[in-house]
Amino acid sequence: MNGDLVGNQALFEQLVDRSPSSVDTALCVPFPYLAQGQRALSGSAMMLGAQNLSEFDAGAYTGEVSGRMLSDFDCRFVIVGHSERRTLFREDDRLVARKARAALAAGLVPIVCVGESLAERDTGQAEDVLLRQLEALAELLDGASLARLVIAYEPVWAIGTGRAASPEQVQLILAFVRGWLARRVGNSRAVRILYGGSVKADTAAALFSLPDSDGGLIGGASLVAEQFLEICEAAA
Ligand code: 13P
Repeated sequence: MNGDLVGNQALFEQLVDRSPSSVDTALCVPFPYLAQGQRALSGSAMMLGAQNLSEFDAGAYTGEVSGRMLSDFDCRFVIVGHSERRTLFREDDRLVARKARAALAAGLVPIVCVGESLAERDTGQAEDVLLRQLEALAELLDGASLARLVIAYEPVWAIGTGRAASPEQVQLILAFVRGWLARRVGNSRAVRILYGGSVKADTAAALFSLPDSDGGLIGGASLVAEQFLEICEAAA
């Protein structure tokens, strides 16, 4: 829930002009700025996404925004199950899975966030939590649908804290997710797995070059053109 019309315009223009063409990049913007994002990114390689969607298609759900509405603005992606939605807005694993299903039905690619809290990590439960979050997806989605997801590993303790997980910690979990995908999807490489949580220009290259990393989900640093562009360069 960052940004405003004037600030966004400057940010979008800098990003569109200077983002490296060899990296797939998308901007997931708040709902009121989708039209602005659509205009700013049209004709560029940078893709548009949203930060949430309704589990429902249409109807009497006042205040909700459907996947079809997002598609109307040329969104390609939508973030689903971000830890802030899980903790602050009580979205549980099953709701997250229903939202992922709604996104796929609307032709969007859900970027499904999974990750453990610090207490869960400290008590050795990180993989159990990940498994529970992933299995909830598999309860609603078949292998072909799972293959269309992007999975973002975002340990809650690393988001917005300036304390990124170490490359070793990240690789262990990414490999765990990859292994789960191999069992559920078959071709686990078909699914992109991202890391998010305090990624900065100086840590991005090490995180992106891990064997099971396909890129990043960037929060705070995406609000500053220079920082975001440096992170994109690290992935190039
Ligand atoms: P930060 O990069 O600010 O830690 O946020 C990560 C994130 O939650 C992206 O969705």
